Amino acid sequence: MVTARTALVTGGTGGIGTAIVEKLAAAGHRVATNYRNEEKTRAWQDKMKAQGVDVLTVKGDVSDPEDCERMVQDIQAELGPVEILVNNAGITRDTTFHKMSPGQWTDVITTNLNSVYNVTRPVIGGMREGGWGRIVQIASINGQKGQYGQANYAAAKAGMHGFTISLAQENAKFGVTVNTVSPGYVGTEMVMAVPEEVRAKIAAQIPVGRLGKPEEIAYAVAFFLPDDAAWVTGTNLSINGGHYMGW
Ligand code: NDP
Repeated sequence: MVTARTALVTGGTGGIGTAIVEKLAAAGHRVATNYRNEEKTRAWQDKMKAQGVDVLTVKGDVSDPEDCERMVQDIQAELGPVEILVNNAGITRDTTFHKMSPGQWTDVITTNLNSVYNVTRPVIGGMREGGWGRIVQIASINGQKGQYGQANYAAAKAGMHGFTISLAQENAKFGVTVNTVSPGYVGTEMVMAVPEEVRAKIAAQIPVGRLGKPEEIAYAVAFFLPDDAAWVTGTNLSINGGHYMGW
C-alpha cells in the first residue's frame, strides 16, 4: 500500500514529464506540474482528463526564482506540502562552443540548472520539517559522457548531479533522499527534432538497439519514491539501453 504524497513534476507537459505525471498519478499521488503556454497546456490537460489522470497545473517559469516561490505556494495551498519533487524541465540550445552565444549558454544553464535551485529551495524546508521527502533530478547521459555541440547542456546536466550528492548529504538525517536519473536518448519532441539520419546513427550505438520510451524513464523515477527506497540516496541511475556504462 503506497502512502499518497504531494508531488511536483516540473515540465510535466513534455514527453518524459507526461510519463512521470502519469506514473505518479497511477500510484495514487496528488500530482502538480507547471506550465508556460496556456493554450498548449489546455490541450494537454484535456488529454490527461480523457485518460483519467488528475493533475493540478500551475503557471510557472522554472528559470525565474520569484515565479517558482509563487508557483510552489499555489501548489501547496491546493495540495499541501510538496513531498516529492522531480526536477525534469529542460531545454537544449545546441551548437559547438566556439560559436555559442552568451544567450545560448545562459538559457540552458538558467533553465536546466538554476531551475533546480529555484524549485527545490521553496520545498526543502517543508520536507525537512515533515521528516520525509524525495527529490529526483532528470539529468542526461550527455552530462556523464559529454556531447559534441552540447557544452552548455552537458555542463548543466553534470551540475545537477553535483547538486544531488551535496543535497543528499545535507538532508539524509531528515528522511529526505536526493537522487539523479540520467536518461539516454528517448523518443520525445526534443530528440525527434534531430534529423532522422542522426537518430538512426544514435540508435545504432545503443546496445539495446532503439531509443528509450518516456515510460521507461518514469519507471526509473518511481523506483526512488517508496518508503522501501529510504536507503537509496545520492545515487545516479543511468537508464540508456546500455549506451553509456560509466558512472
Ligand atoms: P520536452 O521538450 O518534451 O519537455 C520539456 C518540458 O520542460 C516541457 O514541459 C517544457 O514546457 C518544460 N520547460 C522548458 N523550459 C521551461 C521553463 N523555463 N519553465 C518551465 N517549464 C519549462 O523534453 P523531454 O521530455 O524530452 O525532456 C525532459 C527532461 O529530460 C529534460 O530535462 C531533458 O533535458 C531530459 N532528457 C531528455 C532526453 C531525451 O532524449 N528526450 C535524454 C536525456 C535527458 P513548455 O512546453 O512550456 O516548453
